[in-house]
Amino acid sequence: MIPGTFDYHRPTGLAEAVALLASLDTDARVIAGGHSLIPMMKLRLAAPTHLIDLAGIGELKGVKMDGDTLVIGAMTTQHDLILNDLVAAHAPILKEAALLIADPQVRYMGTVGGNVANGDPGNDMPALMMALDGQYVLSGPKGARTVAARAYYNGPYDTAARPGEILAAIRVKAPAAGHGYAYEKLKRKVGDYATAASAVVLTVSGGKIATCAIALTNVADTPLNAAEAAAAVIGTALDKASLAKAAAAAESIASPAADARGSVQYRKKMAGVMTARALARAFARAAA
Ligand SMILES: Cc1cc2nc3c(=O)[nH]c(=O)nc-3n(C[C@H](O)[C@H](O)[C@H](O)COP(=O)(O)OP(=O)(O)OC[C@H]3O[C@@H](n4cnc5c(N)ncnc54)[C@H](O)[C@@H]3O)c2cc1C
Repeated sequence: MIPGTFDYHRPTGLAEAVALLASLDTDARVIAGGHSLIPMMKLRLAAPTHLIDLAGIGELKGVKMDGDTLVIGAMTTQHDLILNDLVAAHAPILKEAALLIADPQVRYMGTVGGNVANGDPGNDMPALMMALDGQYVLSGPKGARTVAARAYYNGPYDTAARPGEILAAIRVKAPAAGHGYAYEKLKRKVGDYATAASAVVLTVSGGKIATCAIALTNVADTPLNAAEAAAAVIGTALDKASLAKAAAAAESIASPAADARGSVQYRKKMAGVMTARALARAFARAAA
């Protein structure tokens, strides 16, 4: 199908984009890689009257360090993440997960900012940012503010962003060197969204898990911070009993819809299975 008509704007600076968004009617939308928004427009599920393209804004692109914090510009593509040395060195789970998103064509265009700002519970990056305790930097008519990824998602396509705000960057404090990590994503085929997926970031000290964060993708209306599952393994050497307890805790918070990917029961079960697999792989990777 063909999208409805809209006016196209291409600002070259973030302040200009924010001002433009404030000056236009409420049906104006920003567009990043377009790989979620354009399909929605073609299906007429979205009909923006104005599109503000962020592609010309250089300050929104790239990854840098600010002390011990990775600062990922919202317009950094998933492909850029995969190739970035800072990401590989400090938050390799982002590279591992980006490689599981769709296919190279989508990853060349799709941005990290679009992926997390969209509020689609099927997107992979939000759970990653929750597990890493990422902070979203939003720029709006009243200035900039920061919202934790763990507090950003209210419901499907419903986020803590206020009208007129544009996501400028994501700040991720680099986990300790030698940390363990894994993103386990069950999907029906290459290029599919997750049936269920689990992100784990942990540290190990003296053979036992010292810190752990777990977040789940596509098993509820929002990505889920599985705090109880993480607490179940802290202080353990990931023995069978604590692993089972963590998997059960992840399962218990999952409330997926039945769809072509499986029944409610199956997808709940898979939330636990993915969590157990991610924990085992992260633990094996971590330096004791
Ligand atoms: C075939 C296919 C398979 C896919 N499979 C997966 C998958 O397995 N996993 C996955 O995670 N994703 C998947 N995607 C989605 C893909 O990763 C999208 O590119 C991504 O989710 C959205 O990023 P975008 O840059 O394309 O955003 P756009 O489509 O441009 O925008 C998406 C939404 O976010 C808003 N937005 C964008 N940038 C900002 C910003 N900086 N500030 C505020 N709002 C903003 C837009 O207004 C829009 O509402 C798939 C897409 C396709 C087409």
